Amino acid sequence: MSGPAGPAPNPGGVRVLRFAPAKLNLTLAVVGRREDGFHDLHSVMVPLALSDAVAVTVAHAGTHGPAVVRGPVAVGGPPAPDTLRVSGLPLAATPDNLVLRAIAATRDAVRATWPGAPADPPPLAARLTKRIPVAAGLGGGSSDAAATVAAALEAWAAALPEEGLRDLAASLGSDVPFFLAGGAALVTGRGEFVERLPDLQGEAPAVLIVTPNLPVSTAAVFAAYARGARPTSAAVLVASERLVSEMRAGLPARALFARAEELAAGNDLLPAALEVAPSLATFRAALGLLLGRPVGQSGSGPTAWVLYPTLAAAHKAARFVHLGVVEGTLPPIGGGEPFVAVSTILTPGLHAMPADAHNGGRTRSKGR
Ligand code: ATP
Repeated sequence: MSGPAGPAPNPGGVRVLRFAPAKLNLTLAVVGRREDGFHDLHSVMVPLALSDAVAVTVAHAGTHGPAVVRGPVAVGGPPAPDTLRVSGLPLAATPDNLVLRAIAATRDAVRATWPGAPADPPPLAARLTKRIPVAAGLGGGSSDAAATVAAALEAWAAALPEEGLRDLAASLGSDVPFFLAGGAALVTGRGEFVERLPDLQGEAPAVLIVTPNLPVSTAAVFAAYARGARPTSAAVLVASERLVSEMRAGLPARALFARAEELAAGNDLLPAALEVAPSLATFRAALGLLLGRPVGQSGSGPTAWVLYPTLAAAHKAARFVHLGVVEGTLPPIGGGEPFVAVSTILTPGLHAMPADAHNGGRTRSKGR
């Protein structure tokens, strides 16, 4: 995106809608710790069809309705603040919600070039439909932030130079640059370096997502990693680099299914996640036994993922998971049933869509 801010925002009432996909880390190698305390990563990330939806409307003064689904929230100065309504999975519409933070940060970024400056771009009324489990390693908050930045810019008919957009994304969260890039990518640094990879060719594998109802703090997982809860070999980095080479050369999507075992083992944060949440080990082992397939972990967890050649096979597996919950072969960890959804890796022919979820989810809180 480049060029100065456009001349005028969309008129009040024009609604801009963006889907905000979840992500899966097909590989996640930790390659070192930086002086700023963050870890450098080497990760192949792909967007999933499972997605939230963010809609924004330019709200002129006096157009705000008072009602919000989970408490009215207003940030920014008078006279008319940005507002947010959340529906779907439970998530507070508080000022620290990444949708509101992304609107405020985007406004700051375009302010300098806004026509008539120092006047600000007008307030936005935002709606978030939450389908991606929260604090689950699926990047939902970062994806909402990226979708909101894009939607706000469109609503204001504004643009940012590439560098400004990059800085804005990185300031909002480690995974936001990936989501703004919009496809399969090699992500390095703490997430700020994103190299788009050719999208997988052909029909993408189906993905079964199982998120136990167990809070796992990303910060705690990285701290456990730093204390030594980590693999002893560099096998994950080797696998991650190989996957990148293969994808650069144009990897057929079905080849991913054939690599399921290697990919499922390709997460350096797994030992640390198991140290932080020991019951996750029993849960993952039971899930592997129940399904007879390799079980991966997305990000710092606790979400487990399993690849299937077809959606039908993944739906059948989802039914097994529910049976496992009912019959007790899948241990109840955390405070309730796991979130179970069938999705696919997003490829050029597919569009983000709301989750085909098999039950409701809950919000779990987790620090970074
Ligand atoms: P990360 O590894 O970056 O923490 P994640 O996928 O594990 O990502 P998210 O769902 O992005 O977790 O949530 C991380 C934190 O961000 C949670 O504690 C949540 O309360 C907060 N948060 C703020 N806004 C949002 C949002 N719109 N959606 C989800 N979480 C949000």
